[in-house]
Amino acid sequence: MSERIEIKIDRDMCKGCGICIKYCPKEVLARSEDLNQYDNHYPEVVSADKCISCRRCELYCPDFAIEVKEVKDEKEEKE
Ligand code: SF4
Ligand code: SF4
Repeated sequence: MSERIEIKIDRDMCKGCGICIKYCPKEVLARSEDLNQYDNHYPEVVSADKCISCRRCELYCPDFAIEVKEVKDEKEEKE
């Protein structure tokens, strides 16, 4: 069974500070073109495959807007 990384971003919790984008060592995140309901540019996942699950984005986000999870991929499990 393999694991995949899921990056969950709560757009409307984001104040657009860009810390998560700046401190991601793999350039997984980028500033959105769109605005959330508070007129902030939230981060978007642009290179999910590069994520190393270091969780810096989650730990440094001052507004708890990002969660990084390792999810077991049960679809790949063989009989
Ligand atoms: S877990 Fe690490 S590599 Fe993945 S998006 Fe967050 S900061 Fe970047
Ligand atoms: S660190 Fe948090 S508040 Fe700042 S841009 Fe990233 S998700 Fe938004």
